[in-house]
Amino acid sequence: MGDTLVAEAPRVLDVRGLSIAFRRPAGPIRVVRDVDLTVGHGEIVGLVGESGSGKSIFARAILGTLPRQAEVLTGEIGFVGSDLRHMPPSQVRHLRGDRMALVPQEPMTSLNPSLRIGRQLTEVLEVHRPEIRSAARTERAIEMLELVGVNFPSERLSQYPYQLSGGLRQRVAIAMALICGRVELLIADEPTTALDVTIQAQILDLFVRLQTKQKMSVLLITHDLGVIAQTAQRVAVMYAGEIVEMAGVDDLFAMPRHPYTRGLLDSLPRAGGAARKAHLPSIEGAVPSPAEEPRGCSFVNRCAFGVDLCRQQQPQLESAGAGRSVRCHRWQELADQFVRRDAAP
Ligand code: SF4
Repeated sequence: MGDTLVAEAPRVLDVRGLSIAFRRPAGPIRVVRDVDLTVGHGEIVGLVGESGSGKSIFARAILGTLPRQAEVLTGEIGFVGSDLRHMPPSQVRHLRGDRMALVPQEPMTSLNPSLRIGRQLTEVLEVHRPEIRSAARTERAIEMLELVGVNFPSERLSQYPYQLSGGLRQRVAIAMALICGRVELLIADEPTTALDVTIQAQILDLFVRLQTKQKMSVLLITHDLGVIAQTAQRVAVMYAGEIVEMAGVDDLFAMPRHPYTRGLLDSLPRAGGAARKAHLPSIEGAVPSPAEEPRGCSFVNRCAFGVDLCRQQQPQLESAGAGRSVRCHRWQELADQFVRRDAAP
């Protein structure tokens, strides 16, 4: 099991040694490898990495929504003191939407296109809060729409998702995720990727306000470190199914320890620079296929600092100072040249 960056506050989410594989005729292919990750009460933790790094499948394991061909091989998924892996599926289903919820990248995946907004919101209450009477459900739906910044909330109840803009749909999806009023862990999976930059900033601001107001914890999954800078307190960088670096956000931006993190940061625009690109630019090469589990460092084929040792021996996640950990044989040698004096999260 890898070393861990431990949250200061009591943990809402406490994942230990989690490995997830896809079943294949030739044997399981591991797509998440021995991941430890904690989220404290009232904390926003970012999980960042390129498409194909394993972060979304990690989130699905927490929510108990892994695709049929995937399975958890090892590890524990602690949620407020209980191990979700040992909970009956019906209980996990009940927790989902009640005490933990997902905001997906594309709100249409959580909204039903053929149902009015009001019906969709009150339906969640019918399932998870049956003690709330019908008239009060509608009031609660209006309150939630107001809370997430939807204008004309009463009028919106009779609209269909296609009648709303992308930003409004995402606000409605967030309202749906939180309407039960008991959510302790919100998992947001690329919640702003489909939105333009202005709306993206508004939605991120909304996450921070809601997290403070509702005192919930957030696991924010994204390919964009810029999104993390605006919202999270801590960040875990995932590459090829492994955590390669964990740190507080300010430390990570000022002093990245892993060459991959450095590459991600270098791909962000500097102050006054060009607008952020929609996808990670130019760290040469691509995330290796999970079928080619490397003997050494999983980043070696893209790393400008690789040496023989990196090809032969897998680096372990090791402590790199208070509240930090990194998976790189050479992080100490490289530390000085990785300091970013112009860092501006
Ligand atoms: S272990 Fe070697 S190849 Fe891997 S990130 Fe560090 S320097 Fe690069």
